[in-house]
Amino acid sequence: MLPASLVARLRAVVGADGIVDRPEALLVYECDGYTLERAAPEVVVLPRTPAEVSAVLRVLAADHVSFVPRGAGTGLSGGTLPIGAPVMIGTSRLGRIETIDVRNHRIVAQAGVVNQWVTNAVRAHGLCYAPDPSSQPACSIGGNIAENSGGPHTLKYGVTTNHVLGVELALPSGELVTLGGAVEDRPGYDLVGLVVGAEGTFGIVTRATLRLVRVPAAHRTLLAVFDSVDAASEAVSGIIAAGIVPAALEMMDRLIVQAVEAAFKVGLPTDAGAVLLIEIDGPAAGLDAHAARATAVCRTAGVREIRVARDEAERAALWKCRKRAFGAVGRLAPNYCTQDGVVPRTRVPEIVRHIAAVAARHRLRIANVFHAGDGNIHPILLFDERDRDEVARVRAAGREILETCVALGGSLTGEHGIGVEKVAEMPLLFGPDDLVAMTRLRAVFDPEGRANPHKIFPDAKVCVETRVPRRQAAV
Ligand SMILES: Cc1cc2nc3c(=O)[nH]c(=O)nc-3n(C[C@H](O)[C@H](O)[C@H](O)COP(=O)(O)OP(=O)(O)OC[C@H]3O[C@@H](n4cnc5c(N)ncnc54)[C@H](O)[C@@H]3O)c2cc1C
Repeated sequence: MLPASLVARLRAVVGADGIVDRPEALLVYECDGYTLERAAPEVVVLPRTPAEVSAVLRVLAADHVSFVPRGAGTGLSGGTLPIGAPVMIGTSRLGRIETIDVRNHRIVAQAGVVNQWVTNAVRAHGLCYAPDPSSQPACSIGGNIAENSGGPHTLKYGVTTNHVLGVELALPSGELVTLGGAVEDRPGYDLVGLVVGAEGTFGIVTRATLRLVRVPAAHRTLLAVFDSVDAASEAVSGIIAAGIVPAALEMMDRLIVQAVEAAFKVGLPTDAGAVLLIEIDGPAAGLDAHAARATAVCRTAGVREIRVARDEAERAALWKCRKRAFGAVGRLAPNYCTQDGVVPRTRVPEIVRHIAAVAARHRLRIANVFHAGDGNIHPILLFDERDRDEVARVRAAGREILETCVALGGSLTGEHGIGVEKVAEMPLLFGPDDLVAMTRLRAVFDPEGRANPHKIFPDAKVCVETRVPRRQAAV
């Protein structure tokens, strides 16, 4: 239990309206988008400025108190779960876009700025912020940086790390440090690259300098309908092999198609085995030729039907289906858990077949909507949390899927991070020495291990001290 005097000192920094400590209000913060594990913090602190973040961290440092950063709480790996961290620091009030440099394609945004706001702020100048997670109307820039988030268009444009030039980081000591800046390729170690994807274990990102890109001059958006996931996967490999780099190459299987069609009614074929959303962008000249080549590859793979969005309204409708697919899953089951493995693109058919086998063996329904072009799978395991046996089967099935991703030469996460969800699986990819080396690196920023403890590593402290490679205790 936190001493009342500590809460009083935090209140003195952020004001009474910056403290959440009533039990019913804390329920909002007991989980993020990963709902299999829940725990409320003792207090949530909502600073308004980077200076207030720094002051809050100084208060906590004086008493050696651990904390967990939280952006919008859309994370899917339980990164905001307060384990051994009684204080949650929310960035929702750090919502200012501070500067826009149109000529140099740069923007400085505070950590709580919502991803979509960045593009909204610069669209009139023909610019946008390329990383576009499907949660972009809600998720924060700080959360994107912590998770190194991707999105449908990262196949061509890269993930968050490719678009962050500099960050201001509030270290657990409270010290504010500036890493990187407005120009590319600074000499020395790539410390910005280290912070991107650190999942809040180095401190709290307070503001960031982001790279903007030109809005593509034109698009061709195609919906290709296949009888099977296998055939759609063949088309994915074929399109890339043909030298076409689509802006996006997204797959939805039958279960997801049925859910999104029920939700949005745009005429998706509910009897299809899988659909591919293919977007090609760039200068208008040449786009039709690329679209024709992609169509030819789909025909070779046995496409049943192929539609091209005729105008911006049709394109928007197709993207609405894809980007809101997770919301539509609410029609299928009371709860779901989204896995986030990666396999080499050519192994997509194998992993999708494996997912189907796992679903059958564990008597679960698993839907698939994923960034096929990146080999980044998102099996959505449906369940009812009131059924404890089903919850146990979801956990077992998730682990089997990740094990197979690694066995196929892939990885545990493409974009959602390790959080608490996948800590136990880290030894599938890393040996004890690797984990020790990484936790030592972390200690450079956070020597006491107070920033988002018990995340990413089986147990950061245990790892360093005893070289035990797995987190022993359940949360
Ligand atoms: C419907 C839906 C669709 C999604 N689609 C995608 C997708 O297409 N691609 C994708 O990559 N992800 C996707 N996600 C996952 C999620 O939106 C991203 O991981 C996002 O970046 C999380 O941002 P957030 O602000 O919600 O962070 P939170 O969930 O609040 O936090 C996530 C992690 O970041 C840390 N953190 C947050 N802010 C800071 C900060 N300022 N400094 C340091 N650490 C911080 C937290 O401690 C936690 O570990 C989706 C989620 C949902 C619910």
